[in-house]
Amino acid sequence: MGAIDSDFTQRLQAIIETAIDGIISIDARGHIEMMNPAALEMFGYHIDEVMGQNVSVLMPEPYHSEHDGYLQRYHDTKEARIIGIGREVTAKRKDGSIFPFRLAVSEVILNDRVIFTGVIHDLTEVKQAEEELIRVNEKLENLVEERTNELEEVVNRLLSTNQQLKENELKLQESLDKEKELNELKSRFVSMASHEFRTPLSTILSSAQLIGRYTTEEQHPKREKHIGRIKSAVANLTGILNDFLSLSKLEEGKVEVGLSPINLTDLCQLIHDEVQGLLKPGQTICHEHTGEPIVNSDERILKNVLFNLVSNGIKYSGENSTITCRSEVSEESIKIDVKDEGIGIPEAEQKHLFNRFFRASNVETIQGTGLGLNIVKEYIELLGGSIDFESEEGAGSTFKIIIPKK
Ligand code: ADP
Repeated sequence: MGAIDSDFTQRLQAIIETAIDGIISIDARGHIEMMNPAALEMFGYHIDEVMGQNVSVLMPEPYHSEHDGYLQRYHDTKEARIIGIGREVTAKRKDGSIFPFRLAVSEVILNDRVIFTGVIHDLTEVKQAEEELIRVNEKLENLVEERTNELEEVVNRLLSTNQQLKENELKLQESLDKEKELNELKSRFVSMASHEFRTPLSTILSSAQLIGRYTTEEQHPKREKHIGRIKSAVANLTGILNDFLSLSKLEEGKVEVGLSPINLTDLCQLIHDEVQGLLKPGQTICHEHTGEPIVNSDERILKNVLFNLVSNGIKYSGENSTITCRSEVSEESIKIDVKDEGIGIPEAEQKHLFNRFFRASNVETIQGTGLGLNIVKEYIELLGGSIDFESEEGAGSTFKIIIPKK
């Protein structure tokens, strides 16, 4: 029996001596009774240096100071914090360095004596590996963030290049559209010009031929009639040429506004005189003015605008009708209305009225280029003003201009 016991003790001894984990046992007061070689190596002590010492020498603060109290509390209350649980703590080597380990403590009662045995597994390498892992992880995270930023920058650059490309495409499209519009304008212009020039030119030709045949004194009134026709055809051609000229000047931005004092009543009288040749039998022009007649504006532009509006009023109304020109000057603005009792503009077509070359469907054989109102609008806008109109087909139209004084 004794031989078996001693054999078992020897085996147990050998196991403890060769165990990789450290084993420490202490008595109920915390004094070290045994430390195996692994534990001694971990802490850097010789067995003689620790035998009988309080186990707290192996502990750093605050465990070092708290350990006695902890044992006492366990003694009194049996409330365990480590026993049977195991946890990660830190320990202090002989040289003062601290290292982490996992501690599992068991309590044994042997011959009525309490012994606590702690099994210690050094976690230095595990912790180092963990720390290394955290470090590598952080490095990776930083790298990912760096790469993400770089990528974001590349994406932003791509987006802005894309935006630039889109803008360029838009500009190209715009200039293409403009070119297309210009080509369309050119071809419309050529067809309109050839049509509008042919009629007055053939009138001039036929009237000139007839005049050549009217040789006698009695045929003088007939000659006069044809001379009148030639004059009006020439005036018509001049009007068209003037429109072309105004249009190309406006297009090139060559129209400059020059302000000078103008007497509106005189200007209206001038227009009145100039359009006499255009009046149909029984047509009258009347002018009403309220307010100060002298205004500061561009005379050439205003004259062109009024001539255009009044001659349209004459052209698009019948015999025995009245064209009324009302001007009103206030502190803030110059207002001019030109009203006729003519054919009016079909409601559905009114929205196109200021478009270049637009002519309403009810003009029939009345000659025109569809340029006048477009020019008028651009001129008025050059003066900082605006133009509007009211019209009813068959009843008449009123064109209204407002030019602010400042
Ligand atoms: P044009 O008289 O040479 O055709 P405008 O640009 O002056 O060119 O006028 C454009 C169109 O607007 C005219 O063809 C006509 O259909 C319409 N219009 C202009 N003024 C009047 C008006 N006083 N009464 C009726 N229609 C008008």
